Amino acid sequence: MITIAVANQKGGVGKTTTAINIATALAATGWKVLMIDLDPQGNASTGIGVGAAEREYSSYDLLIDQASIASCAVPTRIPGLDVVPATVDLSGAEVELVSVDNRTGRLRSAIAADAGHDICLIDCPPSLGLLTLNALTAADALLVPLQCEFFALEGLSQLLQTVERVQERFNPDLGILGIVLTMYDRRNRLTDQVAEDVRSCLHDLVFESVIPRNVRLSEAPSHGMPALIYDHACAGSQAYMKLARELIGRLPERRKAA
Ligand code: ADP
Ligand code: MG
Repeated sequence: MITIAVANQKGGVGKTTTAINIATALAATGWKVLMIDLDPQGNASTGIGVGAAEREYSSYDLLIDQASIASCAVPTRIPGLDVVPATVDLSGAEVELVSVDNRTGRLRSAIAADAGHDICLIDCPPSLGLLTLNALTAADALLVPLQCEFFALEGLSQLLQTVERVQERFNPDLGILGIVLTMYDRRNRLTDQVAEDVRSCLHDLVFESVIPRNVRLSEAPSHGMPALIYDHACAGSQAYMKLARELIGRLPERRKAA
C-alpha cells in the first residue's frame, strides 16, 4: 500500500477537500482506497457521508487501542473507497499518546498490517502535534495543500522542517509528493504573486494543476458527497481530476510488505 499524508498545520487551506476528492478520483480509476480521518473535527468523515451512527470505531481506536484498520474502516457510498472516521475522542488522543510506547509509530503499525487497500490518504488536523507526526511517520509521501496568501511560505518552511525531523528520527523514506495551490483566484494579484514566489522557491515540487476557488467545492460537504460526485463538471472537480492524474504520475513505488 502507498500512504499519502495530506498535511499543513494551517486550518482552512483545503486539506480535507483535497483528501476527499483525490480519494474519490483514485477510487474511480479502480484503486482500492482507504481514507483515514485524523482530524478530531471529523470533516472528512462528514464530507464523505459517514454520519455519527457509523462511527462506532474510529481513528482513535487505531491509535490508542491499536485496533486494526479492518475493524475500524467503514465503506462509503463511493465504490472502492473506505474510510476510518474520526470522532471528537481524537482530540484527547493527542494528550493520551504522550505517555504510550511507540507514540509516533502507531498509525504506521496499523497501516503496515492492512492488506485490503492499494492506497491510503490521511487527512491531518491543522497542527504539527502527535496526530500529524503519526501521519508523517506512516506516510510514503506528503501532499501539501497551500493557499496562496501572505505568510504561506513561512508556514510551509515550518512544515518542511518538521518533515526533516521525521525523516531523521522516524521515517527516512518520507518523500514530498508535491504542493498543490488551492482556492486559487486568478483575479487576485496577491494570489498571483504568492503563486509565483512559491514556484520560484520550490520549482517542480509544486503541481502544475491548481485548484480554483469554486463554490461547488464548498457546497458539496453539506450534501455528504465529494464535489466529484456532487457536480462532476464544475471547475473545482475538473481541477481535482487533473491533479489526480498528475499525482498518479508522481507516486512512489509501493512499499514492500514488511
Ligand atoms: P482544511 O481541511 O485545510 O481545514 P477544508 O478543505 O476543510 O480545509 O476547506 C476549508 C473551507 O473552504 C471548507 O469550508 C471548504 O468547503 C472550503 N473550500 C476548500 N477548498 C475550496 C475551494 N477550492 N474553493 C472554495 N471553497 C473551498
Ligand atoms: Mg480539514
